Parts: sequence; structure tokens; C-alpha cells
Amino acid sequence: MKKNIDDFFTNEIRTVAIAGHVNPDGDCVGSVTALFLYIQKHFPDISVKLYLEQPKEDLMFLVKPIRAIFEKPAAQKVDLFVTCDVSSFDRIGLAGELFEEAGRTLCIDHHVSNTGFAEETVLVPDVSSCAEVLFYMMEEGKIDLGIAEALYTGMIHDSGVFQYKNTRPETLEAAAALLRKGIDFSSIIDNSFNTRTYVQNRVMGHVLEGCRMYGDGLIVAGSITYEEMDQFGATKKDLDMIVAQLRLTKGVEAAVFVYQTDENEFKVSLRSNNVLNVANVAGKFGGGGHVRAAGCTIEGDVDYAERVIVAAIMAELGVS
Ligand code: AMP
Ligand code: MN
Ligand code: MN
Repeated sequence: MKKNIDDFFTNEIRTVAIAGHVNPDGDCVGSVTALFLYIQKHFPDISVKLYLEQPKEDLMFLVKPIRAIFEKPAAQKVDLFVTCDVSSFDRIGLAGELFEEAGRTLCIDHHVSNTGFAEETVLVPDVSSCAEVLFYMMEEGKIDLGIAEALYTGMIHDSGVFQYKNTRPETLEAAAALLRKGIDFSSIIDNSFNTRTYVQNRVMGHVLEGCRMYGDGLIVAGSITYEEMDQFGATKKDLDMIVAQLRLTKGVEAAVFVYQTDENEFKVSLRSNNVLNVANVAGKFGGGGHVRAAGCTIEGDVDYAERVIVAAIMAELGVS
């Protein structure tokens, strides 16, 4: 698949915009930061801007120093627009209009559900993270300490620090190459992945306490509404590790986490352990993702959202 990222920055490209996906996670923030730093360092004549929804505090160490733009950009045509970790156009979020007006568009991604929305796509679905895809596109000699930190952050977040099934021998070889750049990997893991705030611990405890089992113990589901989030002073940024914890419930194949995103709208996060293709399940509700980690949005109340998603999983697993 080796496609050199440098080949996209041809002479006529003077302005580049980079964007990640809505509700940016560690892979998204790590990938866009690595690409931004790479362009800044190796293509100093290109004017590059990074547009991103503001990530949670634990990931701000990446984007703070490079002055990422957290607002909707003023209409301004760029020569090349690059998305990282974005599987469909509607997930670009605040920079969507800029994408539509760009001279050229490039999508770098690893989602099996990628819709092919850009003119050019570098998609490697069996790779752990978008950061790992980017690693293969960059010449190793051109990866400096800052780029290595950003790529490593992306890789650990989507692979659960090399524990999930998307970790391949090549993933660890890529991580080894990044370690050789001298990154402080244990601090990155602790500060951006392992640490939980008091609020995050309490809100996770609340969801775990109320979670329910279905399908003879094959499915576990937890949920939270705005009202409950308010009780803990939590926002959606405090919820992203809950589904990972639910997945660890002994005996379950599928974990479901439902959380409120609007008055009558709920986001569903899905994880599976061995056989269930959750990208297929999410796809039935207009979402997508990966075989073992996917998501979608459901309109209705919290009980309805949980009921329909659990029913879809049961049908897929052939249990009642
Ligand atoms: P999450 O459960 O939000 O952590 O998402 C798990 C995976 O599914 C990530 O790779 C997301 O990019 C993807 N994903 C989540 N929600 C959606 C959605 N509505 N549409 C497409 N992909 C999604
Ligand atoms: Mn992502
Ligand atoms: Mn990703």
C-alpha cells in the first residue's frame, strides 16, 4: 500500500487544510497533529491550517502548541484538503464547507465503512489506526520527535495500548520505530490514555452500576441521559472509556453504550470481542466504524435506543 505522503504536496499546492472527525478521539488528534507537523517541517512553503473540534483536555498537549483552529473556518479556498480518521463527509464537522470548495481532496483513513467521499482515498481497513496508516506514508527519516509523539498517541488510543485485535506485528514494529525517536511513551500512555478525572470515574461508576445483560449474558448495555450527566457535572468528553470497560464484562460478546447527544437523540457506541461485526450493526442505523468498534446515532428516547440496538445485535448473533 506504500503511498508516500510527499507525493500529494506537488509544486502547485500552496495552501493545505487538515481536518479530523467530530468528537475527536486520540487517533484523530494524533493523526492530524502528526500531518500538520510533517508539512510544517518538510514543506515550509506550504501554508497549512488545522481545523478540529476542541478535543478533551488529555489530548490538548498535541494541538495547543500548533494553534489548531477550533471554530468554523471563514470560506477560503485551499489547494488541498486532507482528512484524517474521517469515514464519511458528514463526520468532517465544522470544516465541511471548506472541503467542498477545495481544489483537491484527500482522505487518509482506516475505517472499513469509509464511503469514499474524497477525490483520493488512502484507506487501509485492517490497520490499527489512522496514525499507523500515516506512519507507513511517511519516510522514517523524516519523522522527528514531535511527529513520533503524535503518531504514537494515535496508535495507542485506537489499539487500547496494543491490546485490541487490530494490533498486528507490524503495528508493534511501527511503535518500535517511534520509540527509537526517543518519545516518552510511558508519560504519553499515562497522561493521555490511563488517567481518569474524578468526574470521569464517578460517571463511569454510575453507568456500570446500572448496566443490563441481554441474550443470555452475551450482550451488556449501559446508558446515560443529560439529566444524569448533569448530576455528575460530566460532558460527552468524559464518557469515552465507558464502553471499553463494559466490553471486559466476563462472557459478553457485545458491549453497548448509549448516551444522550440532543433532546431526542442518542449516540450508540458498540464493541465486540470475537465474532460480531459491529460495523454491520451500526451500518443498519446509518453509522459505521470497524469490525470490533463502531457507532451510530438513534433518534428517540433512551429506552428505545437501547432496545432497537440490542434487538439488532441479537438478530445478528442469532440469539433471543
Ligand atoms: P466510538 O464508539 O464513538 O468510539 O466509535 C467507534 C468507532 O466507530 C470509531 O472508529 C468511530 O470513528 C466510528 N463511528 C462512531 N460513530 C460513527 C458514526 N455515527 N458513523 C460512522 N462511524 C462511526
Ligand atoms: Mn477516530
Ligand atoms: Mn481511528
